[in-house]
Amino acid sequence: MYDKLDGRFRMRHSLRILLSLGLAACTRVQLSPAPAAAGVNAQELEQRLTAFAHDSMMGRRAGTVWNVKATDYIAAQFQSLGVQPAGEGGGFFQIVGDFRPSDANSPTAPARNVVGIIPGRDPVLRGEYVAITAHNDHIGFTHHPVDHDSLRAFNAVVRPLGADSPPRPATSAEAGRVVRILDSLRKLHPPRLDSINNGADDDGTGTIALIEIARVLMRSGGRPKRSILLVSHTAEEEGLLGSGWYTDHSTVPIDSIVAEFDADMIGRGAATDVRAGGPTYLEVVGLRRLSKEFGDWVEAANARQPLPFVFNYEYDAPGHPDQYYCRADHYSYARYGIPSVSLSRGEHRDYHQVTDESQYIDYPDYARLTQMVLDAAVFVANADHRPRLDVPKPADPHVPCRQ
Ligand SMILES: [Zn+2]
Repeated sequence: MYDKLDGRFRMRHSLRILLSLGLAACTRVQLSPAPAAAGVNAQELEQRLTAFAHDSMMGRRAGTVWNVKATDYIAAQFQSLGVQPAGEGGGFFQIVGDFRPSDANSPTAPARNVVGIIPGRDPVLRGEYVAITAHNDHIGFTHHPVDHDSLRAFNAVVRPLGADSPPRPATSAEAGRVVRILDSLRKLHPPRLDSINNGADDDGTGTIALIEIARVLMRSGGRPKRSILLVSHTAEEEGLLGSGWYTDHSTVPIDSIVAEFDADMIGRGAATDVRAGGPTYLEVVGLRRLSKEFGDWVEAANARQPLPFVFNYEYDAPGHPDQYYCRADHYSYARYGIPSVSLSRGEHRDYHQVTDESQYIDYPDYARLTQMVLDAAVFVANADHRPRLDVPKPADPHVPCRQ
């Protein structure tokens, strides 16, 4: 998720959770009996995320050679899994033509989306696509190294939402708690200077989930009727530029995309990370805005999981000051009338901090959520019709987003 542009900070994190109890049960759902594709593997996720969020990626900022390196990694993974290239010129990449970094510096390398297709097995329906997306860029590195554990201890107490908590000094009571946390961390490892925003959760987790979903679908032989479109967007952190470009210049007909799932920051969400968190915590934005049927299908796929997630729709509320509806890549699809959803397990102390590292990811729950996204996408891809729109398609996809 990209930083808020309006400069306001969220002061309180509401504890309200809107439970979606019973919705799946009372919904008539038509779906083929194809079983959910099984097999998302936590070790596969961990191995790839450790590489993708490594210091050598230097924070993957769009418009730098490090983002090129990150997108090379994704394309190589798609290639090795047998995913069909669906970018420009027969390759996996699509260059964002009008890319300008948000800080007005000149880009030093192209900003690239990575696009692949897993063809559907139905000869007619394979011309329609269920998109699964994430963003490959992050916010780079700083020239002001800080002590890693000191920052984590401070943010645990003073900035529980990382960059989305207001910067301020600790009170004297808080300072005591910071010192106690730091003391316990010092017993585990020595001081370490850190200047690289690894973006393990943001959005290494979504990115590696795309690759893992590709691995499962390509290896299982259980490919759905419609095709799966995998889009790794660049320049999300610069203001949804990669997804905006992709949907304005889509490499498949834009109207053939029947639904979109965006996964951004899906690797944390425990009670120690997010105030309302826990193993079933999931923030869901946009799901029912264009198509209640799409919402019903995703909730039904979730309800079939061994431990279903509890969808928190709080941040989807029209006018919500946090603006999540307008701050994630799903919106680039929604503005074209494509039923789309943003899935996240919430902001935490490491959000847009140098401490967002792969060692803090909760891999078992990350694997459960990746499986749910895969099953929900397969569910939609096997449905006998595309999700019905309840509202007219937006007449102009380029009007400003309204939360
Ligand atoms: Zn993000």
